[in-house]
Amino acid sequence: VARVGGDEFNLLIPDITGREDAVMIVSKIFDQLKQPVELEGHEVFVSFSIGIALFPQDGASMEVLVKNADMAMYHTKSHGKNGYEFFSDNMKGLFQQQLSMENGIRRALEENQFELFYQPQVEVNSGRVCGLEALLRWHHPERGLMLPDDFVPLSEESQLIIRIGNWVLEAACSELKKWIKTGLDDIILAVNISAAQLQQQGFVKGILEALKRHGVPGNRLELEITENVLMHDMDKAVSRLRKLAAHGVRIAVDDFGVGYSSLGYLKSLPLNTLKIDRSFISEIQSSQDRNSIITAIIAMARELNLEIVAEGVENEGQMDYLKALNCCKAQGYLLGYPMTAKEARHAVEKHKRC
Ligand code: C2E
Ligand code: MG
Ligand code: MG
Repeated sequence: VARVGGDEFNLLIPDITGREDAVMIVSKIFDQLKQPVELEGHEVFVSFSIGIALFPQDGASMEVLVKNADMAMYHTKSHGKNGYEFFSDNMKGLFQQQLSMENGIRRALEENQFELFYQPQVEVNSGRVCGLEALLRWHHPERGLMLPDDFVPLSEESQLIIRIGNWVLEAACSELKKWIKTGLDDIILAVNISAAQLQQQGFVKGILEALKRHGVPGNRLELEITENVLMHDMDKAVSRLRKLAAHGVRIAVDDFGVGYSSLGYLKSLPLNTLKIDRSFISEIQSSQDRNSIITAIIAMARELNLEIVAEGVENEGQMDYLKALNCCKAQGYLLGYPMTAKEARHAVEKHKRC
């Protein structure tokens, strides 16, 4: 056994006849590592990822074997840790892709290829723009405009999401400051927060410092977090979000209704807003069943004193339905596409004048 890095170990196992032998040894390692470790009276669990390369089929030299085992290990890691994988040739392609994407993101951060677009959130009754959601866009030098679904999930695996998240927060707060300066001082800015960000040590401090740096009050910022992320480490989420709420920062549950979660968390978290997932809105007028879900969510939100944003409103029929239900806010292509900061400012100012 050799320790090759901070938390990386190589295990050279001679005298095995095939994959089964390797699996048997890996199972033994699992059994050992699954045991909690006691640290100053606390039980601590370690997570681990194992990659396996076999001689000679996966490499005839030590260098190649170790490199391929490493690649298999990263593969395991990207599938949620606590497992093992054997090296396979097609990992090379995936690994290359991932590597070039990661390098691309690093360059994007250095060369300012990211931009925030803003999509209006509108009061259903008055039509007034009351908020904007910041949505990340990447002007990729070769691939053109890229949407977050093409790179955010991948960046979450490599922790690059933390750097992206910091960039987003900085850009959002600096834009918010401009709005306040130009008199748009009742617009709320919503920013999406990923799992890795919420779990990061300096999360609360980072947000409070960004607000302070730009001189914007906390109650103008809303953090959008999905249910599953909130549920993942409930205790941590509660304590961190309460600290932020104490500074006025608003919290919204994003994509509400599609996660697998108990509703109990709605009471323990300092929430302001539920964003009803687009899938429910898109079924309005086509399924009685979904419509009753929306009705129930709105009733529940009212009871819990939470605001509602209906996501993905695309036609007048949906808007009318939401009006009839007294839903307070809506967001979607009908009311405005995600647009550049300049366009968003114009849109809000125009609304103000009418
Ligand atoms: P989300 O937070 O639920 O954002 C709403 C998504 O729905 C956006 O996609 C928006 O363009 C799209 N959308 C809005 N109205 C409509 C509509 O009427 N119809 C349809 N079909 N779609 C609509 P986008 O910008 O591609 O973002 C996708 C997801 O990526 C977001 O979902 C959010 O989870 C994530 N994301 C975006 N920006 C960031 C960011 O800065 N940081 C992190 N961590 N995630 C982000
Ligand atoms: Mg969102
Ligand atoms: Mg959403």
